[in-house]
Amino acid sequence: MGRVYNFSAGPSMLPLAVLEKAQQEFLDYRGTGMSVLEMSHRSSAFSEIIAQAEALLRELMNIPDTYQVLFVQGGASLQFSMVPLNLFKAGTADYIHTGSWSKKAIAEARKYGHVHVASSSENQNFTYIPDVHDLRPEADYVHITTNNTIEGTVFTKLPDTGSVPLVADMSSNILSQVYDVSKFGVIYAGAQKNIGPAGLTVVIIREDLIGHAQKECPTMLNYSTHVKHSSLYNTPATYSIYMAKLVFEWLKQQGGVEAMEEKNRKKAALLYDFLDESKLFSSPVLSDYRSIMNIPFMTPTAELDAAFLQGAKAQGLETLKGHRSVGGMRASIYNAMPIEGVEQLVSYMKTFEKNYR
Ligand code: PMP
Repeated sequence: MGRVYNFSAGPSMLPLAVLEKAQQEFLDYRGTGMSVLEMSHRSSAFSEIIAQAEALLRELMNIPDTYQVLFVQGGASLQFSMVPLNLFKAGTADYIHTGSWSKKAIAEARKYGHVHVASSSENQNFTYIPDVHDLRPEADYVHITTNNTIEGTVFTKLPDTGSVPLVADMSSNILSQVYDVSKFGVIYAGAQKNIGPAGLTVVIIREDLIGHAQKECPTMLNYSTHVKHSSLYNTPATYSIYMAKLVFEWLKQQGGVEAMEEKNRKKAALLYDFLDESKLFSSPVLSDYRSIMNIPFMTPTAELDAAFLQGAKAQGLETLKGHRSVGGMRASIYNAMPIEGVEQLVSYMKTFEKNYR
């Protein structure tokens, strides 16, 4: 069929069953005589789609009733601004600095108030998650990036923030492992990794944190606007929401997030076990903090990395080039990556190692 195993960090693979379902419904969505792409966001068919998407996400993540679920735009990057614009009261927040994305979140928040970097792993190139022991009770919130897409690290233990709300950029590991939503004040994620196509951002926010935006906050950036209008204040990313609904249905069929986490841990272990025994490939990340979603690895030289990538492409193993800040390779193995894709990758790595040593 010509489909490849696509290890892109995002946009990334979608489940084949979801793409096929979308294809089947593409021209005539359930007898409406139109595509979801052509449908008014105020139509009854679309109202049902968005309501189902929210209900499914609530079920999959076990989201308490005291939280609102929003479908907005602007990517996770816009949340870097929306979070401080909506959550600053005293005007000071604690950020844990664990990589390129937290750096951007910090830079944005600094435009609106004071940011205290409570801990950072910059001293060792973000190859680990630092201990957190410098949180301040007067902070309006504590911000973390649960999974660092570029560096390949994950918080294996959430910081204890007491009564200070914990805000999480969960862009690259939402729905890949079980999280207790009640531990967070806000969770946000761009859709284009584990949820669906780009253009959609999911925000899960505890109700008491809504309604305190700064006066100058633009209407579109105020969480209250989207809560009051059930994510339909303006035209939302309708097709992305529809695709997200299909992905959520698929996830439920797979056994939900718990079952998905088990599969994801197995997939990641295949790769890490090989990296640990390999004499050619290595992982830059300290073993306690290894992400099960984004796995950077490298050979000893840039020339070998290039040869590896070229050979991978010829085998239908695509988009394995590492981020320029880390180098080498990176395998992003989100929910939609089947275990066979990881098996093929490891098999190719073994052959490559034999040939080049
Ligand atoms: N945060 C993290 C952890 C990410 O991985 C990304 C995108 N790769 C972003 C934020 C930025 O997301 P977006 O492109 O949706 O703005």
